[in-house]
Parts: sequence; C-alpha cells; structure tokens
Amino acid sequence: MEKGVTLERALEIALTNPLPRKTELISLDQASGRILAIDLASKVDDPRFDNSAMDGWAVRQSDCQVLGNRLKIIGTSQAGSKEVPFVGEGEACCIMTGAPMPAGSDAIVMIEDSKSIGNHVIINGPARPEYIRKRAENLEKGQVALVGGSVLESAAISLSATMGHNQLEVVQKPKIAIIGVGDELIPPGEPLSDGSIYESNTYGIASLVARMGGMPMRFALIQDSIESLREVLNYASIKCDAIITSGGVSMGKWDFVREIMEKEGEIAFWRVLMRPGGPPLFGSWSGKPIFGLPGNPVSSHVVFTVLVAPWIAHSMGSVEEKGKRLANKVRVQMKEPLKGAANKLCMRRISIKQEGDALVGSTETHQGSGNIHSLVAHNGLSMLPPGTHAESGDTIDALWLL
Ligand code: AMP
Ligand code: MG
Repeated sequence: MEKGVTLERALEIALTNPLPRKTELISLDQASGRILAIDLASKVDDPRFDNSAMDGWAVRQSDCQVLGNRLKIIGTSQAGSKEVPFVGEGEACCIMTGAPMPAGSDAIVMIEDSKSIGNHVIINGPARPEYIRKRAENLEKGQVALVGGSVLESAAISLSATMGHNQLEVVQKPKIAIIGVGDELIPPGEPLSDGSIYESNTYGIASLVARMGGMPMRFALIQDSIESLREVLNYASIKCDAIITSGGVSMGKWDFVREIMEKEGEIAFWRVLMRPGGPPLFGSWSGKPIFGLPGNPVSSHVVFTVLVAPWIAHSMGSVEEKGKRLANKVRVQMKEPLKGAANKLCMRRISIKQEGDALVGSTETHQGSGNIHSLVAHNGLSMLPPGTHAESGDTIDALWLL
C-alpha cells in the first residue's frame, strides 16, 4: 500500500485496475451523451452531389458578365429533384438551396439579384461559382470523421446520421455501486432523530457517475459496522463493475471502511496529498476496483471530480479533447489572496468569470469541507500547488467546473 500519494500518482495507481470496457450496439436515438467505441467512417460523400447554397438561378458565368442580361428560363431544380434540365448558353434554371446543379451550368445568381418576366429572367447581380457546394467538399466516403472515445454530443449525433449510420457501437455503461456509510445518516425525507443528519453524498455521487457515462447503483445506507460492510461489499462486488463508498476512511475509531479494506480487501493507496479530500483510498474487493471516498460532502465531490472522473474516463477509453469530464483546466487571475496548504494541492472553491480579456476568480462562502453549499455557490476549484499561496492579482491554475 502507498500512503500519502500525489493526485497524479493516485490516478496512475487506480488505472492499474480500470473498469472493464465492453461495447454495445445502440440506435442513434439512444446515443446522445454516450461514448463512441470505434472510429466512424462516412458511408457517403457529403455533399453527395454538387448543389446550390442559395435560392436563385443556375447559369453559365460567361452569360452574366454584363448586368441586365436576359436569360431564358428552362426549368427548375429543387431539393430532391431526380431529373434536372441541361443549361445551355443564354439559359437559366431556377434552383433551390440543396438542389442538384444542372449539367451545363457553372455558377449561381441569387434570387435577390434577379427579376423574372414571363419565361425570362434579368440578371442584376454576380454569378458566383462559390455558391455551389461541391460533392465531397465536407467529407469523402470512407473518411473517419468521428474517433472512438468521443462523446456523442448533439452535433456528433447529426454527423453520424449524415454519414448514414442509424446504429452506433458505444461503450457500455459501467455499473458502479454507491454505498454511504455512517450511523448518523438518514435518507432525506425521513424524520431525523437527535444527532442524525440528512445523507447527501450517495445522491450527489450517483449524479456524478451518471454524468461520466456510468450507471449508478445507489445502495441503502450502511451502519458503521464491519459485518454490514462485509455483506454489502460482497454483494456489490458481484452485481457491479466497481464500488464507491462514502465515509469511514479517516483516522477515527469508527472508520470501518478503511479497517475492513486493510484486513479483508486490498488497499493500493490510502490518502492523497490534497485539500479538501485527503483521506480517500483505492483498492479492490474480490478483484473489483473500489474507491473509499471521504464522508465530508465537499471532499467526496472534489475527489470524484479530480480522481474518480478521470479514472472512469480513461477506463472507458474517452479521448482527451472530446471525452467526458467534469471540469476544464483554465488560468484564473485571483481578485483576493488565496491561502494554500503546506505539502498539499489546495483546491478551494472559487467563482470564475470572464472580465474583459481575463478569467477572474474570487471566493465567496465559507470554505469548510462539510459545506456543500460552497460547491453550489462557486463554479471552480483552485489548483494551488503544495506550499504555495496566491496574492490578489496572481494568476493561478484552476478547474472550471462544468
Ligand atoms: P467520515 O468520513 O465518515 O468521518 O465523515 C466525515 C463527515 O462527513 C461527518 O461529518 C459525516 O457526518 C459526514 N458524512 C459522512 N457521510 C455522509 C453522507 N453520505 N452524506 C452527508 N454527510 C456525510
Ligand atoms: Mg463516519
């Protein structure tokens, strides 16, 4: 077991036991937000044929050198037209956006630049070849336009359809057990007894798992007891691909997740040099990867964002630029001084906003790791390296939460 590792090392260790990466074929209707498993090549040229980018007239450019020329209207090409008339010298074919270019024509005059009288049209503006969208100018048949590991965002869904795919091979959603541990925890909505609090982490973590493309399985809350923990971990390791627990991993007498993992599971690392979120552990239970997240609500969200989320993304084969993530790395100019932490990466909650050319950061609420409101009231996290502080006006690394 490694004790007190950097965040980078923690991720490296966790990735030695990734989630299984299985794939499935799904319909395009179901694909939004999923991770494409394989490179996707186009089944067609895009555009499929030369067509007009404007409503107007398909003409010969040589016929329109002089403004006011009169051309004979010989027919119409509309979107979906199968047969299109040939445009000869002194002729024009009425054409709609997306309609096939008639043979013989080599330019388009916009409808606004023309006046039709009977079966003739007067050309009052330029005839432009640039108004023709050329076959395959966007994509050639066989060209890979979406790479495996990309998240299927809305435009990627449209592109898949444009390329002729009605089904996509995507990465299966890993099933991730989420287990809250603590005698004091009561599900929201139920009556509270003295000393009890509403449990929140399993809901938040389930939402984070779903956002990362996993299938969260929120288990019933577990008391601080070795026996209950053993039972639920055994069950979860059979039913799920990975396990996330919350609570019970610090130094306290009742921190049974750490105790049972030490005695009956396998711990790969315990404690990460970060604040908040120092006490997490990672290991395996019956071979299944398990993260023991701290119980403090801010800590568990932050550890998920910077450690568990990248682990899920890497496991699922998400690519760096187009993959799933919960935050973007940015540089932020601080409005106020920000205190760092000795020996630890310090992730304080900050608000990030654009002011002129710069992104500026400020802090607003109490920063305690028990204060989940601080994560809602801000939209970013500082990334102050160990032993450093920021003065007001300093530019620092930060995460802009999505
Ligand atoms: P622990 O990590 O078990 O020592 O818990 C640290 C703090 O987080 C304590 O104040 C707990 O009451 C609180 N806590 C633990 N688990 C949860 C949870 N699932 N939801 C909300 N707060 C929690
Ligand atoms: Mg506890």
